[in-house]
Amino acid sequence: MAQAGKIAAETLKILEKNIRPGVKTSYLNELTERYILTHKARPAFKGYRGFPAGLCISINDEVVHGIPTAKRVLAEGDIVSLDLGVEYQGFFSDVAATFPVGRVSPLAQKLIKVTREALYAGIAQCQPGNYLFDISAAIQNRVESNGFSVVRQLVGHGIGRQLHEDPQVPNYGEAGKGPLLEEGMTLAIEPMVNAGDYQVEVLSDGWTVVTADGSLSAHFEHTVAVTKNGPLILTK
Ligand code: MG
Repeated sequence: MAQAGKIAAETLKILEKNIRPGVKTSYLNELTERYILTHKARPAFKGYRGFPAGLCISINDEVVHGIPTAKRVLAEGDIVSLDLGVEYQGFFSDVAATFPVGRVSPLAQKLIKVTREALYAGIAQCQPGNYLFDISAAIQNRVESNGFSVVRQLVGHGIGRQLHEDPQVPNYGEAGKGPLLEEGMTLAIEPMVNAGDYQVEVLSDGWTVVTADGSLSAHFEHTVAVTKNGPLILTK
């Protein structure tokens, strides 16, 4: 999983360097698939329940699961969420981040900052002896104290020999509840944060999730192992 995580992190780094106005989202997908395949790994999203690409690209009010196409081009002022998974020798990793395209609004900057902070607040709770919803509550508190909302219809997840495993990892909940965290558990923690209301809808392509009120949305994700020494981020 650490090797799968390393490849995912390296892929995301390459994508970040290629984010600029005028770039086709399909080009970012080509970079993703090429990098993963040349490292003897497999883009885990490609073909997952029929998803057509190795990378999800979700722009502005798109929350997650946006499909890269040659028609969709990044524009100055957009925020773009990139989400990708890697399978390496039967083990999986999952990572996501939201980036500004050129100069973005103060609201967009704050949304990105708070969502990243919420991810790290959740990760800090990945300690043996804590409860799963300690992660959820830490994320929710960080988000809501900044005036934003956490998406509820979509959640993080266990990960390991499959991309999505139990347990679900919601980004809201009551601390002290849920399954006990134990050494060796591996979780994909992924706050999806809306600038407006938490309600979301799915577009007619059957994949792209958007905010119901048209507000901006950001998404950060790491694959994390619970160890006796605390959280170990596998996709750093
Ligand atoms: Mg995920």
